[in-house]
Amino acid sequence: MDDLADLKHSGLKATLPRIRILRLFRESAQRHLSAEDVYKMLLLDDADLGMATVYRVLAQFEQTGLLRRNQLGSNRAVYELTENRDRHGHLVCNRTQAVHEFFDQEIDERLKSIAAGMGFDMTDYVITVFGSGTQAPLQHPQNTRQAADGRSAYKAATKGYRMA
Ligand SMILES: [Zn+2]
Repeated sequence: MDDLADLKHSGLKATLPRIRILRLFRESAQRHLSAEDVYKMLLLDDADLGMATVYRVLAQFEQTGLLRRNQLGSNRAVYELTENRDRHGHLVCNRTQAVHEFFDQEIDERLKSIAAGMGFDMTDYVITVFGSGTQAPLQHPQNTRQAADGRSAYKAATKGYRMA
């Protein structure tokens, strides 16, 4: 992926903060990052960007469609790259705050048909499930890419959860 070309394509000038933040999302093992996560990770990486800059760049990336903002409960929002991403829901651990992705064909189709029945062509949905892991093997993998792609990971992640 060419960060510069992508910034240009989204109509944003390739400033250093934008390049750093885009790269961070691409290289991080953690897909879902809050503004604070981004700020802290950049600090560790010796990039001295202020919190205000981080917020501003994240908002610009959201506006231009590079990032998607997910509101998880009233006090927390995380961002994730939109590229190559299909619709998915999120599971949030009440204890660790870890975010996992899941996809379920039945839920997807059901929502599509509910929407169609009301004359809507579904383009997206937001599902956030809150709970806590009940088993040790699910060690809140930081890289939730796997969880979104593999049905077995989804099953592991949703064991013990019930969608209301
Ligand atoms: Zn996600």
